[in-house]
Amino acid sequence: MAVATLVALVPLTLSVLTLYARRPMMRVIMLAGPVGERTRNAIAVGSIVPWFGGLLLYRWIGVPERVIPAEALIVGATILSITLVAVASGLFHERVDRARRELSRELMEMASTDHLTKLLNRNGITFELEKRWAAFHRFGTSQCVMMMDLDHFKKINDEFGHDQGDRVLTGVSKRLRPCLRSGDSLGRWGGEEFIVLLQDVDKIRAIALAERMRKAVASMTFEGIRTKKSKKNVTASIGVAFFKNGDCGYEESIKRADLALYEAKTKGRNRVETVFPNAKSAA
Ligand code: GH3
Ligand code: MG
Ligand code: MG
Repeated sequence: MAVATLVALVPLTLSVLTLYARRPMMRVIMLAGPVGERTRNAIAVGSIVPWFGGLLLYRWIGVPERVIPAEALIVGATILSITLVAVASGLFHERVDRARRELSRELMEMASTDHLTKLLNRNGITFELEKRWAAFHRFGTSQCVMMMDLDHFKKINDEFGHDQGDRVLTGVSKRLRPCLRSGDSLGRWGGEEFIVLLQDVDKIRAIALAERMRKAVASMTFEGIRTKKSKKNVTASIGVAFFKNGDCGYEESIKRADLALYEAKTKGRNRVETVFPNAKSAA
């Protein structure tokens, strides 16, 4: 078989594939990841090896030329079948790989989600804090941390039962969401404590938002399901703090937010307190 004929077989095979193959079959050849690379390599080897085999037959072993070049057809069929096998195997691996990627994304989501409120859990918030700490250092973006704790939550549990306590936690999380912008993060830090992260926000706007959240919680009422007692209110105290130059990590701003929260509790609860970088209590 003429070298030119063999060379022509490769683009011919590809054009046949392009014209008739289903889209995923072509996509798997173009993929950027390891599956695409493996498929392309298999096709290249699968085309070159039979091609050299054909050359060997004609040039060095000296197979006589015939009117109907059966060997050329065999070489062509071999290239085509290897290409098809490579594409099919690529497709299969791509499907498995996609399932694996989806599973790993779901696992990541589960590991960072609080099962009760569906907010970020402590893991998820810690990851956010790390990202925001990096942004604070690199770009100097202001970063605010708010720590919210429900007031006398133990009493709600004791009086109305743990299930009702859980419903209050879920209700609070639903009330808080609409107060926030899309780039803000809301999470459950633990028990009846919530954490809110804001960026690119000044003190006045941060306090205004904290007040809005406090009011949103205070406007919420719940009824004792078991006791059928009259409607009750739930309130929350909030501590506000900012990342500060000279801090060793985001943990220090969490401590400051905790300090502010403690102040809100000691001053009577259902209020917002702040500890800003230049405030004495922040030292
Ligand atoms: P304070 O105003 O000082 O914060 O008082 P508090 O009663 O809210 O605080 P305390 O730390 O004494 O009690 C917190 C309660 O929150 C105790 C715990 O049983 C309850 N709790 C923690 N996690 C959950 C939960 O997932 N579901 C329910 N229902 N209760 C929880
Ligand atoms: Mg608490
Ligand atoms: Mg509490």
